[in-house]
Amino acid sequence: MTVKQIAAELKLWDQITVAVENSLLDISAAELLAQIGAIPIKKSWATRRLGAYVTLGDKPLCIRLQMAQEPENLKQTLLHEVAHACDHLSNHNRNKRPRLIHGPGWKAWAISLGIAPQRCGESAALKQLHHERLKLVARCKKCGAEINRLRRLNKNRTYIHNNCGGKLERF
Ligand SMILES: [Zn+2]
Ligand SMILES: [Zn+2]
Repeated sequence: MTVKQIAAELKLWDQITVAVENSLLDISAAELLAQIGAIPIKKSWATRRLGAYVTLGDKPLCIRLQMAQEPENLKQTLLHEVAHACDHLSNHNRNKRPRLIHGPGWKAWAISLGIAPQRCGESAALKQLHHERLKLVARCKKCGAEINRLRRLNKNRTYIHNNCGGKLERF
């Protein structure tokens, strides 16, 4: 499943299209919509996190969604993560300095997308939204498991995958 498919199911794709078309971008609206629409959705069974936008370098990898949420929460969570994707993919300086996770860029996108520009805990509606912006930092050479974290792994260390004992390939 992709962002475009789940957004169509939740009747949110028009809302996303309008937000992108109304924004001033360093890439074309059509190009950004194609990139956002193609991001894979991965189901998450995390209980403390309802959504996450996962990146590898300057590329989006996936949006993880906890699917057991009520429909209205699921819409909010998807739009929250789409705002991160829009912020990330339309940012000139994305390769240089990491942006503030919920900085002005993200807030502007949240408003365009019609959600409260607040992160978890700042509003009643988003009270339960646990969220992280994760990066794919390593892959296990033995079992292929992907390790997603907020921060990269230390370059000077060798990491072993707890589950299988395989060596981790760092990104
Ligand atoms: Zn967020
Ligand atoms: Zn492993």
